[in-house]
Amino acid sequence: MNTVSTIEKLREEVATARLAGKRIGCVPTMGALHAGHLSLVEAAKAESDFVVMTIFVNPTQFGPNEDLTKYPRPLEEDLAKCRDAGVDLVFHPDVEVVYPRANATFVEVPGLSDVLEGTFRSGHFRGVTTVVLKLLNMVLPDVVFLGRKDFQQQLLIRQMVADLDVPVEVRTCPTVREEDGLALSSRNVFLSRAERETALAISRSLEQIRRLVEGEAVSPVAAGSELKRLLMETDGLLLNYATIVDAATLEEVSESTSPTVDLVALVAARIGSTRLIDNIPLCNALKK
Ligand code: AMP
Repeated sequence: MNTVSTIEKLREEVATARLAGKRIGCVPTMGALHAGHLSLVEAAKAESDFVVMTIFVNPTQFGPNEDLTKYPRPLEEDLAKCRDAGVDLVFHPDVEVVYPRANATFVEVPGLSDVLEGTFRSGHFRGVTTVVLKLLNMVLPDVVFLGRKDFQQQLLIRQMVADLDVPVEVRTCPTVREEDGLALSSRNVFLSRAERETALAISRSLEQIRRLVEGEAVSPVAAGSELKRLLMETDGLLLNYATIVDAATLEEVSESTSPTVDLVALVAARIGSTRLIDNIPLCNALKK
């Protein structure tokens, strides 16, 4: 496994692999790797011959009061995990490499980026879509692997790729969880033991309402209210949102939502100083 930190070196390595006829898979991350990230590597290995992991904590997607400086950066451990997982190339650039000058150009996906996370993290998605397009232009992969854990993010990236004719295939991989259901996140390291216990309410509530909807016990609209109620009643958890939406448009489900649309239940909440997100796809019972 090679590690490079300049765009020139990255392009050289990728060009050599491509010349050898290899299909290039890319896994963009901010590091602090866990089994969720490594599941993307697994998916990339299954579908490509040369896996590039990018590790870059992107400052432009953090708000002024967010955790940019304290975001974990265990580089040596990350590189060991990449090596063990069979990554071929790690691209780990400094901020100056990705942003050598003040960016005048940004990529925005209005609409999809204005709701849910967009409401609570102003400018976040502009930073995400801009850096992802930059990274895709640097790596030039055939296929990019994203996590469903960041449901809104993967939807925005798919929209950007389609709208701007970016020549890459997008794959979205399932959320990897701890045995007790907690979605793996680089931010879980900030949770105290008690906070972690509180955080479990998120995945438990999502799972509970999934069962309700899929068992046809309640309508998706009623399930959305139940999800909110469950989480608002959880001590130590400050709910940002809990909602059931159309998985393609992110529009909140209503009595007039067609029974044939795919739904997803999404949650964001703060536990102490840590903000967590999670979601679960709902197989709309009415579709069966
Ligand atoms: P991050 O390092 O948090 O920017 O995440 C990098 C990629 O890993 C994104 O595509 C995330 O959606 C994905 N990811 C993060 N957590 C998980 C998880 N628990 N399961 C699957 N994918 C994940």
